[in-house]
Parts: sequence; structure tokens; C-alpha cells
Amino acid sequence: MRILIAEDAPSDRMLLRFHLEKLGHQVIEVSDGEQLVSFFFSHAEEVDLLVVDLNMPHKSGVQAVNEIRAFQGSYDANWVPIIILSGSESDDDVLRCIEAGADDYLVKPIQHKVLAAKLMAMTRLDEMRQKLMAMNARLEALSTTDYLTNLPNRRAFEKNLQDEMAKAGRYGQSLCVAVFDIDHFKQVNDTYGHEGGDVVLKELSRRLVSEKRAGDQFGRIGGEEFGLCLPHTDLENALIACERYRQLLSKKPFLYDEYSIDLTVSVGLCRFTTETDQLELIKGADQALYQAKHAGRDCVVVLKKDAA
Ligand SMILES: [Mg+2]
Repeated sequence: MRILIAEDAPSDRMLLRFHLEKLGHQVIEVSDGEQLVSFFFSHAEEVDLLVVDLNMPHKSGVQAVNEIRAFQGSYDANWVPIIILSGSESDDDVLRCIEAGADDYLVKPIQHKVLAAKLMAMTRLDEMRQKLMAMNARLEALSTTDYLTNLPNRRAFEKNLQDEMAKAGRYGQSLCVAVFDIDHFKQVNDTYGHEGGDVVLKELSRRLVSEKRAGDQFGRIGGEEFGLCLPHTDLENALIACERYRQLLSKKPFLYDEYSIDLTVSVGLCRFTTETDQLELIKGADQALYQAKHAGRDCVVVLKKDAA
């Protein structure tokens, strides 16, 4: 571990360094509470553990720990365990240090084996925390990603859209939303089975993502339905982009085993205005999609206001 020690007494500092290096750790030293806080705030990611003397000039160990803990949440990536060192065996000192956010309390003079044991416990704590954070990140990714296509799922797409609508409203920017629906997808599933359908959905997503304009965001919002958010885009350019995406899918067949599957999509397109809420916006794109289906499919239709 990379351990930052804050200790004002040079002899104690030397001894501590000696013990820690003997245990195989890397040591960084500062000599008062003020230095500890400023070093940690600027180098938090370089430190795995803090060992902090209770009584130091400029800023006490408790004050320093207080400031450091106020700066981070417990799930902050830069959170580190803290051990307080003190000559005092007073219960009150132990209590106020732990209350301030320290994780353990060690009485001087330092006993090598006790220090080794405490470090072992802190390492374990840190490992568990790392695992928990990795698991949380994984769960977060799972809850926002469509398992089949790896696109954002409906929830993530809508959250994204909400953010883009807020930005567009605030800065007066254009924003459009489109809904893509694969034409006669049921036939693909009926003919080639769900495995064939899945292959098509995956390849379709891959094509869209690999050819998408910077800033455009696709999401899988239903079985064979995909949402597209087009920030900074007026209706005219959104129509050009959607046409290009539509042709990208229809110009080349989809391959599954020895089969070659021709596919088209219908697309409904709708423009965001500050009076539109999210539900209306997606509904508008859905209505345009409905019109596209009725117009014979394999086309992009812009929502006609009077038809709404
Ligand atoms: Mg001291």
C-alpha cells in the first residue's frame, strides 16, 4: 500500500517509516495537519491509507480527519482508511477520533505486530470496499444497458433524453427525437427463430452505432423498436440523418447462418419545442412512426402537427 503518514515528531516519523517499509509498504511523509490536508486534497488518488498523529501543530489529527471526511462521500473513489496515532489512552480521545471519521486508533509507542495487524485489517476493509464499488458500477451498467445489443435500454435512453431536453430548453438549441421500428419483424422471428431475430437486432445496432454521427444517441426502447436522440439538430438535418440511417439498414442484407435477410425500417421523427414534455415528444415520434407504417413502411415521416 501507499501510506501517507502525518506526524510532527521526527523520531516517531522515522520509526513509523521504518516499521511500514519493513512491512513492504511505500511511505510518504508530512509533518503537520495542514500539510496532510493539502497534500491529500491534491494527491488523493496516490494514497491508499492515512496514518495520522493526533497532536500536531497548525491542525490536529481530528481536525484534519474531519476536513478530509467532509470532502468525500463513503463511496468516493478517493476514500481511504485512516488510522490515528496517539500517546493518549483516553477513551474520550478514541471516541472523538472515530466519530471524526477515523477507522482505527493506535496507541504509541508503536508495536510492530500490532501495526502489522491493523494494516492487515485496513487492507481487508479497502479490498471489500473496492469490490463493492466494482459491483455497484457493474449493476449500474446492467440496469442501463440492453443485454442483447449493448445499447442503452429504455430507462437509460429516456434519462438521456431528459438531460438533452433540459439542455436544449436552457440554451435554446434544436433537438429532435426519432423512433425506428423494424418492418415485419415478426416474420423474421417466425422464419428464422428467435436466434435469427437476435442476430438481426445485434447487427442492426452495430451498424447504427458504428455509422452514427457524433452526439447522436441510440437506445433499444422495445423489442424491435429503437429510439434516437439527435441533439443540436434541426428538423431538416434530423431528416437527412434518419434517411441515412434507414438506408444503412436496407441497402445491405443481414446474414444469419446461410440465410440472407432483407430488412427495412420505418422511422417517425419529431422536433422538440419548449412546450413539449418527454412523454409528448416520444408520443409525437410514435405518431409519426404510425404514419410511416401507413405510408407503406421503409420511410421516414416527420410528425405533421395537424395530424397529432
Ligand atoms: Mg504529535
